Amino acid sequence: MATVPVDSAATTAAPAAPYVGRRVARPAPVVTVEPVTASAGRLDTGPGLDAGTVDRILADLEPVDHTTSFASDPTELLPLTPARPGLSHPETAELRTAGRRKAVKHAGDRGALLRRMPSVPVLVGIAALAVSVGGAVTVTDTDLAAQEAAPVGPSSALTGSSGGGVVGLDREERISRDSSRDALGDLADERLVEAAEAQAAERNTELRTLANAAEVQSKKIEANQWVLPLSGYRLTARYGEYGLWATYHTGLDFAAPTGTPLVAIANGTITSTGYDGAYGNKTVLTLEDGTELWFCHQTSIDVSPGETVTAGQQIGTVGSTGNVTGPHLHLEVRPGGGDPVDPYEALSVNGVTP
Ligand SMILES: [Zn+2]
Repeated sequence: MATVPVDSAATTAAPAAPYVGRRVARPAPVVTVEPVTASAGRLDTGPGLDAGTVDRILADLEPVDHTTSFASDPTELLPLTPARPGLSHPETAELRTAGRRKAVKHAGDRGALLRRMPSVPVLVGIAALAVSVGGAVTVTDTDLAAQEAAPVGPSSALTGSSGGGVVGLDREERISRDSSRDALGDLADERLVEAAEAQAAERNTELRTLANAAEVQSKKIEANQWVLPLSGYRLTARYGEYGLWATYHTGLDFAAPTGTPLVAIANGTITSTGYDGAYGNKTVLTLEDGTELWFCHQTSIDVSPGETVTAGQQIGTVGSTGNVTGPHLHLEVRPGGGDPVDPYEALSVNGVTP
């Protein structure tokens, strides 16, 4: 291989350097403008390697394909060609030829290697992989095409027509079953619809009865809704307290200014009015269930016995008659006209929180 100095320095240095090989003798500028690839670098930095060793090394390398880009590298367009002092046109041409020859040689060698390496195991492996995965991949390789034509080819095993026959039978059976099931289903559906309609009618009747009862109960509850006997008060004595009373406090005290209106807590009938010793002026309101509500210490009484009243209707005013220390309503709740219970609990049970 002929090497040509490319500039005046190389021209003067080249004759002094011993010619031991193309790589050593090759001028430095040529190296710097070589197409930069990893393989080219390895080639150039191995002065002790011969072509056979390089090919073996390349054969052991991963088949990364640099061939295309390397082979298509326009070597003559590299900045090697601009005319430098001392370079004649034939020298430039020869240099270019040498550069391209070197590049083409490498590309050709590696191209042959790389084409050979993937073509045998890699392509077969890829094709086998494709067949095993999909079975429907079109294989253009003749060897693989021959395999595909073989009686037990993997492609035919995966995409054979026998599978379609199975599918066809299954569909036919399914259609038959569907038809029978539809026929039976129609009869069953009619019976089910009749039964469902009967049940629905029965349920509707029951629901209507329940709804009516609930409405009656609701109106009854609403009609018997309790209300607070007065407003603008503060609780001063609870049921069951001991102190001022002979035994214990038998009611709930609502302290309020004298003259504060008192209203019926619930619907009922006035069963007693009048002065009653320590209770002072007292009004008894008897509810439908027999519960007596006692309003005590009143200043005035606005209702008379036998009068029916509704919840919230005024029946008198707050006072301090009887045994009191100040104006307040003493309220008692006596279920069935018996012993008193805690008015606070009675009010709370009936939805009123004093
Ligand atoms: Zn009291």
